[in-house]
Amino acid sequence: MGGSAAPDPKPDGGPIPAPRSGYGASRNTEHETRLTPYALRITHYALRMDFSLSAEHDMARHMVREFAEREVAPTIKEYDRAQQVNLNALCRMAELGILGICIPTHYGGAGMDYVCLGLACEELERVDTSLRVIMSVHVGLNSLGLLQWGREEQRQRWLVPQARGERYAAYALTEPGAGSDVAATAATARRQGDAYVLNGEKMWISLATVAHNYLVFAKTDPHADPPHAGLSAFIVEREMAGVTTGDIHGKLGVRAGSTGWINLAGVEVPAANRLGEEGEGFKIAMSCLDNGRYTVAAGATGLIRACLEASVKYAHERRTFGQEIGRHQLVQQMIARQARDYEMARLLYLQAGWLKNAGRRNTRETSLAKWFATEASFAAASDAVQIHGAYGYSDEYDVERYLRNAKGACIYEGSTQIHELLQAGYALGYRGDGALRCELPAYGE
Ligand SMILES: Cc1cc2nc3c(=O)[nH]c(=O)nc-3n(C[C@H](O)[C@H](O)[C@H](O)COP(=O)(O)OP(=O)(O)OC[C@H]3O[C@@H](n4cnc5c(N)ncnc54)[C@H](O)[C@@H]3O)c2cc1C
Repeated sequence: MGGSAAPDPKPDGGPIPAPRSGYGASRNTEHETRLTPYALRITHYALRMDFSLSAEHDMARHMVREFAEREVAPTIKEYDRAQQVNLNALCRMAELGILGICIPTHYGGAGMDYVCLGLACEELERVDTSLRVIMSVHVGLNSLGLLQWGREEQRQRWLVPQARGERYAAYALTEPGAGSDVAATAATARRQGDAYVLNGEKMWISLATVAHNYLVFAKTDPHADPPHAGLSAFIVEREMAGVTTGDIHGKLGVRAGSTGWINLAGVEVPAANRLGEEGEGFKIAMSCLDNGRYTVAAGATGLIRACLEASVKYAHERRTFGQEIGRHQLVQQMIARQARDYEMARLLYLQAGWLKNAGRRNTRETSLAKWFATEASFAAASDAVQIHGAYGYSDEYDVERYLRNAKGACIYEGSTQIHELLQAGYALGYRGDGALRCELPAYGE
């Protein structure tokens, strides 16, 4: 899976020169095409472009698909209507190893690669967004953050039980007055001997009332210039004195998911719970988002597929003007767009997963994948409702839930507008990505 920002190095290091003619083959006579040493190098390079999934990828995909179809799909409508989390599904995801899918085995995970994480998210969200949100916060935003930035003792203490699914984890960045503008964070962490005292309120936190621990961002230096340099990250446990939580009701979508608030009132957090150095919070928060956004992109791709499958099925069943509606060109146009967007979203997230496997920076590619897939999933869901006509407007069919769920992903983990700004910044050369003190380990590292 190729196509990253920087060209792949050729096997011996330097850039591959542009072929002089054709695809590196030189023509000796009118009828004979012979591979030259130059062409062999090109062929070697070209072989690295492999769009096929491995047996391990297929196995992971099938296992997650079967779980979602068998154990979640039959009851998802009831949980969504009741606005309740399916805690049994969460336990089963833990038992099946899905909650630690891409965490190395020596940290309690299943030891699969980042592409498997993406495939799992695609399969989960094809059935319901709330399951993928669990993966986004527990694996993408929290566990991978611990893997990237945690000291060995922190990984042993928190990452191992999370990867085994014995403890659930969340990510608490957003506040009532600070969403896109992370630097406006008002929560504070004041050093007091061997601990920090945290005060503040976190809002719109997935798994707020379910998770055992949170990655919380607070200002250790409220006067820092620039303001984001004053942020630090802490592992806060729900049972710590001074932590209270609650659920947000009346959400448009992800109703079978937990979204809530966390109040921190004088919470004493040991200094050993600080992730990274003081002042590194912003970099940690953004690098966690590189992983969370990847899961959102893969999940939104699954949602597009769900919309496509539902639309195709209905287009064959429903008849108007003497033929099935799939025969009408304007219905075909909507289905064609869903098919196109599914393929494009899938390629974009697989490219990001491939970069992660290789241990290469992927902030730009992951943002692009997230932006495209979430906007496309909203459009696909809107068209799926349209294709279902009045029936699509009721919860008799799944497509109305797809539409409600799709909107959230255009807001969280960087709203559409924030990703547009990022992509414009990269294209115009206004932004680039410097090296981090701790990088996400490549697959197998
Ligand atoms: C279901 C759900 C789950 C969530 N889960 C989590 C979680 O687990 N953890 C967590 O920390 N947060 C979570 N969030 C919060 C989410 O990350 C924020 O909602 C998001 O960052 C946007 O912040 P905001 O809502 O404060 O919007 P604002 O930042 O106030 O933005 C409002 C509008 O202004 C636009 N805007 C803002 N700045 C600019 C700009 N510079 N240029 C152009 N337009 C701009 C935005 O795109 C948006 O349209 C969740 C939200 C939802 C809905």
